[in-house]
Amino acid sequence: MDSLLLHVCCAPDGTVPWEALRDEGYDVTPYWYGANIFPEDEERRRREALLALCRVMGREPVLGGTPPDGWETAVRDLAAEPEGGRRCALCFALQLDGAAEAAEKLGIGLLCTTLTISPHKDAALINRIGAEAASRRGLRWLERVFRKGNGFVRSVARWKAMGLYRQTYCGCRYSIRTEVRT
Ligand code: SF4
Repeated sequence: MDSLLLHVCCAPDGTVPWEALRDEGYDVTPYWYGANIFPEDEERRRREALLALCRVMGREPVLGGTPPDGWETAVRDLAAEPEGGRRCALCFALQLDGAAEAAEKLGIGLLCTTLTISPHKDAALINRIGAEAASRRGLRWLERVFRKGNGFVRSVARWKAMGLYRQTYCGCRYSIRTEVRT
């Protein structure tokens, strides 16, 4: 069984990808970044939802250690970017580099993300950024587009069945101004 570190962007989006990878035979370790989530109370709610998902799946998560001000400083010059623009590309890179660093420390050689389940995110860009993050640390990247095959719709049924908290915006302070795009 191949060990795989799965970057879980949020618990609801983690449901279908995690179950699919488990069913393919991967030994999945979940990783949560979290430093992009604003405000603090929202970060706590999403982290608790992730822990609830992990209890259902029977695994302990790896929690990212990046402080929120580290993420804020990194993206500060891109504050005016629209959602889906350069700030989001940098945000993906920060999250996936955090995941790659955790995988390297744990001796897990394969990396993947749940981000591609979102109908609003650029899956090709995410896979390219993930492959670069993995390659820098000598890891392999598992390319997936989880929204294929109605993945997002199926995830809605799964998180509802599990009773997980579902957010109404992507995550950072800048995305609060935007309507439901997660
Ligand atoms: S909108 Fe989402 S992906 Fe874009 S910077 Fe904010 S948290 Fe990251």
